[in-house]
Amino acid sequence: MTAPTTQLPGAPSTVDEHHIDRRRYPHGVAFMDGQYLPMSEAKISVLDWGFLHSDATYDTVHVWNGSFFRLDLHLDRFLGGVQRLRMKLPYDREEITTILNNCVALSGHKSAYVEMISTRGSSPTFSRDPRQAENRFIAFAIPFGSVANKEQLERGLHVAISNMVRIPPKSVDPAIKNYHWLDLVNGLFDAYDKGAETALIVDTNGHIAEGPGFNVFLVKNGTLRTPAFGVLPGITRRTVFDLCAETGLSVAAADISRSEIKAADEVFITSTAGGIMPVTRIDGAAIGKGDVGSVTRCLMDLYWRKHDDPAWSTAVIYS
Ligand code: PLP
Repeated sequence: MTAPTTQLPGAPSTVDEHHIDRRRYPHGVAFMDGQYLPMSEAKISVLDWGFLHSDATYDTVHVWNGSFFRLDLHLDRFLGGVQRLRMKLPYDREEITTILNNCVALSGHKSAYVEMISTRGSSPTFSRDPRQAENRFIAFAIPFGSVANKEQLERGLHVAISNMVRIPPKSVDPAIKNYHWLDLVNGLFDAYDKGAETALIVDTNGHIAEGPGFNVFLVKNGTLRTPAFGVLPGITRRTVFDLCAETGLSVAAADISRSEIKAADEVFITSTAGGIMPVTRIDGAAIGKGDVGSVTRCLMDLYWRKHDDPAWSTAVIYS
């Protein structure tokens, strides 16, 4: 990435965070309406269709040790979604890259969770015609967060399989990253009711789909598999395919039944929020020997080592 060349309108050199309620807002910096703001001041109208109708797309990229990881892939997915939802943004790819960089730089975070969002916005006349809406671009950088905490990463997560059905791809294309999360949130409540820590929900055919903010893989006899249908094509999922190609592991995208995942040797989930994270129990029963398996461990190590590879990382310019 090249150094930011233009000062964006309204960009302060520092962000005053004096009066932020830290219980409600993590330390971070947002960009909206041409300005950089503390997180507590980044607010949208309740009339924005992004809020009223979930009419929005977004992407999340992380920064680790001062570098974005696979930023180009996240931008490709985000801009693809914006185009397919027929939204128009006032910034091009290079300007968005600069804005994301500036949010991280102004926040000072060396490890961050960075989100870019495009909402339908609203029309100046409150028309119900989405073509008349003025689309809105928002970005923010807050501290890095993970689906699994440190202890869960060491011992593996306990996941419950919910009967909730992921919204069908014919209704909402999962490749357009979206906030249609009622199925996932209901799945989470099911999981908590069963004493588990997170959930997997199923697709319209009853096969395993994905969970709240992550894709899933199983390992059986040294071969990996991840659901192909009705799921977000995650960048971390794609990264696992790339790592398998590098290490000679065999991996396929294909249906996984409930019984197959429970009989797997290893299971792990993947997300920008946490990377590759082991699962050692499903519906109360141990997966394999009940500990973090060797394939999962190897991929986890490789995944974090790849954060230093210039081919996959983009240094944040903090000055
Ligand atoms: N599936 C869903 C529904 C998600 O929301 C996410 C990430 O937020 C993922 C999968 C994982 O995608 P990625 O690896 O690109 O973070």
